[in-house]
Amino acid sequence: MTHFAANSPHARDIATLVHPGTNLRKHLDVGPTIMSRGDGIYVSDDSGRTFLDGGAGLWCASLGFGNERLARVAYEAMKNIGYYHLYRHASNEASIDLAEKLLSIAPVPMSKVLLQSSGSEANDTAVKLVWYYWNAMGKPEKRKLIARSQAYHGSGIASVSLTGKPEFHAAFGLPLPGFLHTEFPHYYRQGRDGETEEEFSTRMADALEQLILAEGPETVGGFWAEPVMGAGGAVLPPAGYFEKIQAVLKKYDILFVADEVICGFGRTGNMWGSQTFGLKPDMIASAKALSAAMQPISAVLINERVYQAMLTQSDRLGAFVHGYTYAGHPVAAAVALETLKIYDEIGLVDHVRAIEPTFLKLLGDMVDHPLVGQFRGCGLIGGLEIVADKETRAIHDKALDVPAKIDAHARERGLILRFVGNRIAFSPPLIITEEQVGEMASRLKGALDATLDDLT
Ligand code: PLP
Repeated sequence: MTHFAANSPHARDIATLVHPGTNLRKHLDVGPTIMSRGDGIYVSDDSGRTFLDGGAGLWCASLGFGNERLARVAYEAMKNIGYYHLYRHASNEASIDLAEKLLSIAPVPMSKVLLQSSGSEANDTAVKLVWYYWNAMGKPEKRKLIARSQAYHGSGIASVSLTGKPEFHAAFGLPLPGFLHTEFPHYYRQGRDGETEEEFSTRMADALEQLILAEGPETVGGFWAEPVMGAGGAVLPPAGYFEKIQAVLKKYDILFVADEVICGFGRTGNMWGSQTFGLKPDMIASAKALSAAMQPISAVLINERVYQAMLTQSDRLGAFVHGYTYAGHPVAAAVALETLKIYDEIGLVDHVRAIEPTFLKLLGDMVDHPLVGQFRGCGLIGGLEIVADKETRAIHDKALDVPAKIDAHARERGLILRFVGNRIAFSPPLIITEEQVGEMASRLKGALDATLDDLT
């Protein structure tokens, strides 16, 4: 850290902070990029460089960066009461209004809402509710949970156990026992020669069924899936996938939890990814765009079947003993409520649908580039696969660090990209305009061309 001036924010960052998703050794050398301002879909760092954020922060800043209207709502809520909780019958109007609104827009009939502060907490809550449900139903052995390889569901001990990425488990001694992973439904990578997408989906559903049978259906309680896998690489489900998967879940009476943390609130061109891909979940985990990322808040929606079982447990056990200090935080709830109002006012879903063709066309055109093997997206989410050989779909030698090269060239051109291995996951702020999609695509093209020059 010698190259940063003593007492500079960079030196102080290195001296004090641990950054998630960051090589800590490398950080000592490269230091932080300190983001200091935001305006619409752009963020600026403390040296005055401005970037178009192709990932909306972490898939979440749906309305972009900086928001006067939400700031005022937060200010008023903080001035008014600032904090109260939902324990022991306490409530607040913002949480009531928010729950009502969420239930009114749910993709399938839902009965109640549990509020927390993050997507990880939402999935942790849903894990415990699956267990609570089966205990209430007198089937406590139905505890095993199945998610997909390469899925990301959070960093809590339960949610990271659902996560299907080995690097999130290895050095932590995880996943917990009873957290299982079925196939990664990435047709471009996992599809076999001559296999149609439908056939691939059938194979994915068969693999799920085989796993359930091998474990014993009487021991499997829940299945988790995102409509579009976000941190798995912005991977769309193959044709017919959810229909076939849900038939298996139904056959063995397994609760289905849709993780809508990324897909919820317009991302896929409908209010919910479940609507875009025909999911009929028993519970929904949502967060991120719920408050346009302006406040940490998440919501788990549960159906009547789950709620009735919980009621029965109250008759038997007394209080429902699960919750968080900040569940139903009145400031976060007020901001989320206002966010949903803004979505209605600006016709967010219609806007996403209006921009979608340009987004799909301009990024889809990138497949003509020698470094691009595939692009596939819907709404304003999509994954672009970087390959060394379009025919064989081989990726570059790791030593070449091609993603890092593209990333560096993109930053030079004022574009922030989100890489998942050799895939670029696009999820720009949902307020992006057609012109800005063009800007994003041309900066990307410049970065790809510059990387190709480096390689040849
Ligand atoms: N679920 C999905 C699909 C996510 O993408 C994420 C975060 O990226 C989470 C859960 C965890 O959310 P959080 O980081 O708010 O805990």
